[in-house]
Amino acid sequence: MAKLLDGKILAERIKEEIKAQISSLKFKPVLASIMVGNNCGAASYVKSQQKTAEVLGIEYQLHKLVQDSSEAHLSDFIQRLNVNKSVNGIIIQMPLPAHIDYKRISQFILPEKDVEGMHPQNIGKLLFGAKGFIPCAAAAVMELIAASGVDLYGKEAVVVGHSEIVGKPLTLLLLDKFATVTICHLATSKAGKLEEHIRRAEVLIVAVGKARLIKGEWIKKGAVVIDVGINRVGDKIVGDVEFEGAEKLASYITPVPGGVGPLTVMILMRNLVEAAKLQQEPKYIGEAPNSKG
Ligand code: NAP
Repeated sequence: MAKLLDGKILAERIKEEIKAQISSLKFKPVLASIMVGNNCGAASYVKSQQKTAEVLGIEYQLHKLVQDSSEAHLSDFIQRLNVNKSVNGIIIQMPLPAHIDYKRISQFILPEKDVEGMHPQNIGKLLFGAKGFIPCAAAAVMELIAASGVDLYGKEAVVVGHSEIVGKPLTLLLLDKFATVTICHLATSKAGKLEEHIRRAEVLIVAVGKARLIKGEWIKKGAVVIDVGINRVGDKIVGDVEFEGAEKLASYITPVPGGVGPLTVMILMRNLVEAAKLQQEPKYIGEAPNSKG
């Protein structure tokens, strides 16, 4: 039976480190969060971020823009936050209304305030293995793998899902640790090849958003399984992996909820504090701060 990789326990540990760092700052760090329109998914992320920020002593400023805000209005709003010295980090809540292009909009956030690691400069640094902000869920996955104690060197790692926010950055992080990485996506499933890739994964990361897409019996014996997916099924939240079957074969597995989610929020706050610390130092102005550790 697999051991649980408990994101809440890891998040608690990081929380203590963040608190110590905040107490050494001479000010309360500020995270500006922009939400366009009213979306239930975004609202639940906001709630959990607000709660975590409050516990840590971080000021969480929620800026609600109306649903039909234009891209130009949103980019002007971001520019104002960029030049506001009291704001240390800026995030945009997803999903955005269909008329706003997140990839275009994320470029307007100053790289040194881009605590979600979505600015092309931070993504470029990730590609080159340089220091910069890393997308929080991808960083959370790497923390969970590290907590399992499994060395990625030469391991068969399979990532399901190739989004900019999770799958793609994760692939680079796994390569950086010398795993042999396979990336699966919708076309892999359509070609009927998902199962065969999953069956040889020594480390499996799934970030799709389809309840129980990965069947428990597909898991390789002894695999480390990280389930990023969050799906509402009736009144329950479940992941992308059939947990009951998978835990019988895996060596380590993340629960949903309670795995990647709580850690992702804490890593966002860690990035924010890192940004706040580095923005204080004149030598870092204009450079993306290091949160890669
Ligand atoms: P996304 O942008 O919708 O990406 C989903 C990915 O899954 C796409 O690359 C898509 O491939 C692939 N996919 C769709 N159907 C597939 C199938 N049948 N077989 C294989 N691949 C398939 O989603 P995301 O933002 O990466 O999020 C993924 C999940 O993680 C969601 O449940 C989200 O809520 C969760 N999430 C959790 C956290 C956390 O902190 N725990 C953070 C971020 C996201 P194509 O593009 O080829 O269609």
